[in-house]
Amino acid sequence: MVNRRILISGAGIAGFTLAYWLKKRGFLPTIVEKYPGARKGGYKVDVRGTALDVIKRMGIYQDLLDVNVNLTSSKLVTPNFKILEFEGDILGHVSEDDIEINRWDLAEILKKAVGDIEIIYGDSITKIEEMVHFEKMAPRAFDVVVGADGLFSNVRRLVFGEDSKFLRNYGIHFCVFPIDNMFNLDRCEIVYMDKGKLVAAYAVNEHSYACLAIKSKKEAPSSEELKSFFEKEYAGLGWEIPTLIKEMQSSKDCYFNAIAQVRMPAWSKGKAVLVGDAAYAASAMGTSLAIVGAYVLAEEIEEASGDCSVAFSNYEKSIRKFVEEAQDLAESNQELFSEEGSSFRTMLQFYLIKLMPRKFIQFITKKGREKMKRVARGYKLEPLQSHTKSL
Ligand SMILES: Cc1cc2nc3c(=O)[nH]c(=O)nc-3n(C[C@H](O)[C@H](O)[C@H](O)COP(=O)(O)OP(=O)(O)OC[C@H]3O[C@@H](n4cnc5c(N)ncnc54)[C@H](O)[C@@H]3O)c2cc1C
Repeated sequence: MVNRRILISGAGIAGFTLAYWLKKRGFLPTIVEKYPGARKGGYKVDVRGTALDVIKRMGIYQDLLDVNVNLTSSKLVTPNFKILEFEGDILGHVSEDDIEINRWDLAEILKKAVGDIEIIYGDSITKIEEMVHFEKMAPRAFDVVVGADGLFSNVRRLVFGEDSKFLRNYGIHFCVFPIDNMFNLDRCEIVYMDKGKLVAAYAVNEHSYACLAIKSKKEAPSSEELKSFFEKEYAGLGWEIPTLIKEMQSSKDCYFNAIAQVRMPAWSKGKAVLVGDAAYAASAMGTSLAIVGAYVLAEEIEEASGDCSVAFSNYEKSIRKFVEEAQDLAESNQELFSEEGSSFRTMLQFYLIKLMPRKFIQFITKKGREKMKRVARGYKLEPLQSHTKSL
């Protein structure tokens, strides 16, 4: 086996999944994470389709089920702040087998499954040559460098160039933060949506999170200005929104990001390769793609006995079609969130949903859920070889 020393940039969903499978296949993964410690926060994310098969192979399926968000009711807040209550997860697009999980819980479970590996927090790669250079650490030798560092990947920028070449931006900015259970929710999500502004919150067990999302033609603000950008956009709105804005302002675990896709003609160059959002961010399917992508990358690296060029090319051949179908589906769903249209129309839609029999709503959303299910199952895992099972 050659190229055993593998550096992964990013301790996120893709980073931990990849580290798990590389370790299991006899490699020596090291993770470098920009943040000074494990990053908390995040809203609920979906794990679906083939990603659940990977989770099962990791032996952590039950751990995910134990913290499944499993919403049992929903509330829609109309543009004039009337609350309509519904049974079940009216806004969710989850199908029976999907698992919805707090992003933080998922990251924690994956990290625990990886076990003992070197994780360097609070540092970042600055140059990738024969040696890898860092902001703080002295240069070190690695055979392979994997960018699992999210939508605005550092490795992608260093190896492939500016973000703008690969990012498809939909002008949606979001921010997620833990809150006190101010809406008294229990396995319930509350959602306000009007003219390109969304406010959502849910609570499950003792955890409660809020999400603000804005569709705007304005330029993305710099990271220092994000909180005041959200505050200004929501100024003047009633209901509980001013309280939520205050919570966001004081939160230390606020996670900001954009809804965007990454589309690249190739995911690797030399000894560097990308996985997860860094290579193919897809919103709604991003977490599942990251899990499957990380699994397949580790598998191909082992099958090629560590020969990067063979492994990277096979990794791409194996899952590109699956990834692109998922991205196309996610892209068509973006159109549902618009800053145009009238509050009256939104209100009408909400009341219509309230009036419709539940069976009818299930019927009209069935096609979409079935499509999501088919796409999420669009890649089938190869049988696990016996030597990997026993490692
Ligand atoms: C704290 C947090 C909260 C999130 N909340 C949500 C959410 O509410 N809803 C949603 O849809 N998605 C959320 N995401 C994104 C979601 O996890 C991903 O879209 C998806 O799971 C794919 O995972 P990924 O591993 O490719 O990227 P991510 O899970 O985003 O992980 C990328 C990791 O790389 C790290 N990183 C970034 N830059 C560098 C660098 N220069 N050097 C080293 N490490 C770096 C990041 O800190 C992060 O830990 C969140 C991500 C994070 C980090």
